[in-house]
This record gives sequence, structure tokens and C-alpha cells, in this order.
Amino acid sequence: MTKAERLKIILDYLDKIYDDPRCELFYETPFQLLVATILSAQCTDKQVNKVTPHLFEKYPTAYDMALADISDIEKLIYTTGFYKNKSKNILLASKMIVEDFNGILPNTLEDLIKLPGAGRKTANVVLGNAFNTAGIVVDTHMLRVSNRLGLTTLSDPVKVEFDLMKKIPKTSWTKFSHQMVLFGRYTCKAKKSDCHLCDLSNGICGFYKDNIKIDLKRKK
Ligand code: SF4
Repeated sequence: MTKAERLKIILDYLDKIYDDPRCELFYETPFQLLVATILSAQCTDKQVNKVTPHLFEKYPTAYDMALADISDIEKLIYTTGFYKNKSKNILLASKMIVEDFNGILPNTLEDLIKLPGAGRKTANVVLGNAFNTAGIVVDTHMLRVSNRLGLTTLSDPVKVEFDLMKKIPKTSWTKFSHQMVLFGRYTCKAKKSDCHLCDLSNGICGFYKDNIKIDLKRKK
């Protein structure tokens, strides 16, 4: 089987299991998505969604957030972890949006990654979901699953992003990012992945063939 044929099988399978994948974070504006994505570092989307309704009710815009007392932001986002660092970044990013971008969240990767707390992953989440601009989001799930499936052999997130950009059609970048994150979160998990539910265990997934299948045979 050629690499192109394997890739097609993987993309078709992801389309089958996630035909209309969406970002699971709650937000109403691009600025709120930026904040929610900063909060999602080392935290589940479910937990972020528990704190953002209160946070956004009190500080809905960059202008409001820029005037917030940092101790109040800390109190509101405490349960997402790393709350001191996240609060500082949210406050500084809000101030920068107000001072350098007239209060409007910029819509280019170059400008978004200037904001404190926003790396390429966060920028690509915002671009893909709030601005309809294609981007590949490389988080822990994308890293793990793309390696398991042999879509890349690299481990550096930025290198993986560029590697996948060469292989995945640009029109699919945002959808593919959602699909891989959901697939990694709910099926191809870091520990105890649900390979018995996954069609790719049938000759496509090298990780299954080289690790899990062999383990299963040993246990018999
Ligand atoms: S077979 Fe298992 S390891 Fe491979 S992609 Fe499917 S869930 Fe992930």
C-alpha cells in the first residue's frame, strides 16, 4: 500500500467517526476563544468550560479584562491549574490587545504569537475556529496520534506542524486538527487506548502492530 493510500484510509476513517468536529471550548468571541485556549493548557476543556462562563460574564472583552485585578482573575480560574501564570498572561495579553491592536484580537499568526501565553498551538486554534483560517494544531494528542499512525516521525511540535502541513490538504487542516484531538482524547488515548474500537488497528496503525498486538499475544 502506498503512503497516499494509507493517508486516505486514515482521513476517511476520521471523517467517518467525526463528520462535523467542533472545538469543545465555550466562547462567544475570538477574544474569549483566545482566553479559553490559554486556560486549556495542562487542563481539560471540560474544566475550562466550568470557569469561563463566570470569567466572561465579569470580563467579556479585552478592555474589561485589561482593567481586571489579577487576584480576581486568579480566583476565577484557580481550578484550571497554573493559575498564576495563566492569569498573568491573560492580563498582559488583554493589555496588549487594547494598546497595540485597538482592542480587537489580531487575525494573523504573526500577531497572535506576540501575545503573552499564545504560542503557535493557541494561535492556530484561534485562527481555525474564530477566523476560518486554516491551521494545524499540534497539542499532546496530535503529537501522540500522528506518531502512532506514522503520519510523522518527529517529536518537536513546530516541526510536526510543518511536516503535517506538507502531507494534509490545506482545506482539511482545521477539521483534521479537531478530529485528531477528539480521536486522541476519547479513543487513541495515551494510556489504554481503545484499539478494539478502532478500524485502523486492521493493518494501518504501526503502533498497534508493533506494541499493542504483541502485548495482547504475550498475555494469551
Ligand atoms: S489502533 Fe489503537 S493505537 Fe492505533 S490509532 Fe487506533 S486506537 Fe490508536
